Amino acid sequence: MKPFLVTVDDDPEVSRAVERDLRRHYGERYRVLRAESGSDALATLEQLKLRNETVALFLVDQRMPQMTGVEFLAHAISLYPTAKRALLTAYADTDAAIHAINDAQVDYYLLKPWHPPEERLYPVIDDLLDDWHASFKAPFQGIRVLGHRWSPHTHQVKEFLAKNQIPYQWLDIEKETEVESLLQSVHAGHDQLPVVVFPDGSFLIQPTTFQMAEKVGFRMKAEQPLYDLIVIGAGPAGLAAAVYGGSEGLKTVLVEREAPGGQAGMSSRIENYLGFPAGLSGQDLARRALTQAQRFGVELLNPQEAVSLQVAGPTRIVKLADGSELSGKTVLITTGVSYRTLNVPGMSQLTGAGVYYGAGMTEAFASKGEDVYIIGGANSAGQAAVYFARYARQVTMLVRSDSLTATMSYYLIERLKETSNIVVETGVEVTEVQGTSRLESLVLQRAKTKDCRTVPAQSLFILIGAQPHTDWLGESVLRDEHGFIFSGPDLVRDGCLPPTWPLERAPYLFETSVPGIFVAGDARHGSIKRVASGVGEGTIAEKMIERYLDQV
Ligand SMILES: Cc1cc2nc3c(=O)[nH]c(=O)nc-3n(C[C@H](O)[C@H](O)[C@H](O)COP(=O)(O)OP(=O)(O)OC[C@H]3O[C@@H](n4cnc5c(N)ncnc54)[C@H](O)[C@@H]3O)c2cc1C
Repeated sequence: MKPFLVTVDDDPEVSRAVERDLRRHYGERYRVLRAESGSDALATLEQLKLRNETVALFLVDQRMPQMTGVEFLAHAISLYPTAKRALLTAYADTDAAIHAINDAQVDYYLLKPWHPPEERLYPVIDDLLDDWHASFKAPFQGIRVLGHRWSPHTHQVKEFLAKNQIPYQWLDIEKETEVESLLQSVHAGHDQLPVVVFPDGSFLIQPTTFQMAEKVGFRMKAEQPLYDLIVIGAGPAGLAAAVYGGSEGLKTVLVEREAPGGQAGMSSRIENYLGFPAGLSGQDLARRALTQAQRFGVELLNPQEAVSLQVAGPTRIVKLADGSELSGKTVLITTGVSYRTLNVPGMSQLTGAGVYYGAGMTEAFASKGEDVYIIGGANSAGQAAVYFARYARQVTMLVRSDSLTATMSYYLIERLKETSNIVVETGVEVTEVQGTSRLESLVLQRAKTKDCRTVPAQSLFILIGAQPHTDWLGESVLRDEHGFIFSGPDLVRDGCLPPTWPLERAPYLFETSVPGIFVAGDARHGSIKRVASGVGEGTIAEKMIERYLDQV
């Protein structure tokens, strides 16, 4: 995008002459914007600022009736502090212009008339533009998120964008001066953050996830009246099933409530997935899988949450959070698991404000140079520690048991030992998180001695085990005491199938207690909680679904 040269003059004839001369000489490299009053120019500048356009130079008449050139520049500087500023003055205003150089940080003044421009205008402007170019940094051309680092709502917006792999620029109100001018342009106050500004200059104040999704063009409504396969949850298991369903010609829809990738999308580096010796990020895996599924014609509804499941004869009906319904011949549940919550004092107020569940990759860069704490002793916690160690000053892993060997892979324990800024503290628990509007400290207790100590902390990431996302199913399918879904041979108890099972045949592998409803991945009773297992189960489940469809 070419930067702007802005000229303001209240005399239309002069204004058009300046515009013409500027266009003639600079038109190839710059866009020229002309205004006939300071207030008109400021209104346009606010729009340019919202679209993240750049202004290289202001060339402004000093003597204008409502707002002098110097007064205009004083406002314009707050929007475009690095743009060069030149005043156009009559000979009689030379004194005012000289004062302006000192008082209003004007770079140059030009005397009217400026003809011939080759001698009296262009050399000066060339010089100013050379200077401007020397320190110019091209602006970010995408979505900008303005907010407080410690605000849970801001975190939610950033998480939505990051998990859905939508690039954005994060502008922290405490660090970035341009936030103030952007807030002015959208007429919002500090208490209305977060604000999201889009490349076309439109914006959302304190947006919900649905507003964000709509704005970035995600689809949330189904296209077909009846699907062969409805997949609930777009983690590795759901994505794999969708790819195979689509490739086998099944009318397939994939419903995801947060972002494709599931837990794998939170993993900074999966090092043990077959075929990727250097590892791959969960987000990469999710992006590739989703592209593949969509190439096979799979519909993705995101963000959209399944809230109940019913059977109506041969049709399975999935109710969604917005009240709409999906009808399908089969349903595959791949809703995975999420982290157990830590219920200690202070937790509910500080979640999202320094305390995060999962590896919180969005926050990794923001924790540059800080001390980060991670609770957990399994592989996911180890991976998070290795990832955060790239940014943080020190990463401390807080592990309740006495050793990591029973819960973490050997290669990862070795990685932790090799990383000099990772400290592993075993036999310790967090008993309280403290802070007023953001996390400030943790109370740690030694498991054996019960001694307590308080440590200052800015970020705490909690990765302490899993709980299946199956509550929404209620009694519709049989689940174990922890909520994991029974399927296939696991439904057989003391040699008998559940009394509610209506068919002669036994349930297929991964088929639940209701014919035509299948489960795969972490949410399944007895599953091995790995990416490759999820992918494998999703693939096999899809094959079983084809078998089921052949018979109905
Ligand atoms: C940080 C981290 C690192 C890991 N590292 C590794 C590793 O290195 N190697 C490895 O093999 N495994 C690893 N794992 C484990 C692996 O990611 C999981 O086993 C795998 O993602 C399980 O896949 P899934 O599809 O069953 O479920 P999930 O990945 O949990 O996906 C389930 C999806 O369903 C969605 N969902 C839930 N409920 C609903 C609903 N009601 N409506 C709509 N959508 C819903 C969720 O939002 C989610 O996207 C890691 C896990 C984590 C968290």
